[in-house]
Amino acid sequence: MKAKVFQALVSQLGDLSAVQREALIAALKRRLPLSEAVDLIDSRFGADPCCGHCGSRRVGGWSSQAGLKRYRCKDCAKTFNALTGTPLAQLHRRDAWFSYAQALADGLSLRKAATRCGVSLDTAFRWRHRFLTTAKDAKPKVVAGIVEADETFIRKSAKASKRLVGRAPRKRGGTAKSGLSSDDYGPVLIVRDRHGETTDQVLPDLEGSTFVRVLKPVVASDALLVSDGRSAYATFADHAGLLHIALNASKGERTYGSYHIQNVNGYISRLKHWLHRFKGVATHYLPSYLGWRRMIERNSDMTPAAILMQALSHVPT
Ligand SMILES: [Zn+2]
Repeated sequence: MKAKVFQALVSQLGDLSAVQREALIAALKRRLPLSEAVDLIDSRFGADPCCGHCGSRRVGGWSSQAGLKRYRCKDCAKTFNALTGTPLAQLHRRDAWFSYAQALADGLSLRKAATRCGVSLDTAFRWRHRFLTTAKDAKPKVVAGIVEADETFIRKSAKASKRLVGRAPRKRGGTAKSGLSSDDYGPVLIVRDRHGETTDQVLPDLEGSTFVRVLKPVVASDALLVSDGRSAYATFADHAGLLHIALNASKGERTYGSYHIQNVNGYISRLKHWLHRFKGVATHYLPSYLGWRRMIERNSDMTPAAILMQALSHVPT
């Protein structure tokens, strides 16, 4: 809610009758989001509690503390709750978690998310990366069948949390796109199969050996690779013994029979369009944004509950 609208709402509170006032207080209590996130997390965890320290499922009785149930592990004797060992441990303001998860589902910029949830910009920033820790690492183990690969270039930025409040550090205005060198852009490799399994990797360079290192663990050994013909793909395909269809993009060849890279290109175009709203993503955090985008593409119904559960899917170490 906008501050102005809120102020108008507050100014009208004096007009309430005693009965209306009671009803309003009761309604606010019912809608208190504190219980929403905590109840959800607790009930899911309580179905199969496991120690956040050692992973044991030999778990003793619990007590309630700050809304979350606290358990004792019969193996390591430590106590824990549903957040122990997860990226959300130690974060405050649980009352705003649910609306923050909704802000992530909606792909809001930091500033909009902070306003909507009533938290500071710093908090919104810290939460974004905590909430996305597991999404960042959630990549398919394998892409198989017809596998389309293409690289895209994303502008490098040293923007860091400290600069959030101030002006974005990179030059604005007067910087013609043609004036930027390739050093200003970093390559990201995107790989997508026909089942929609998608993975990506920020690359240090475009060398064949880099492509081998990145692609070998994830592309199935019997896959058919389709690429735009960059020689690094051929190096990888040779190395892995894959069938490879290299489209001659420089000559405008877009398809070869039914083979093309239009699925991966569609993905890249959705990714770049979506990234645009963040007005320059700090290179350091780019993997979080890539994971966020994969999460959105993977789930047709991005509910706050689904996002909270994804954030907590961290395996205790
Ligand atoms: Zn334990």
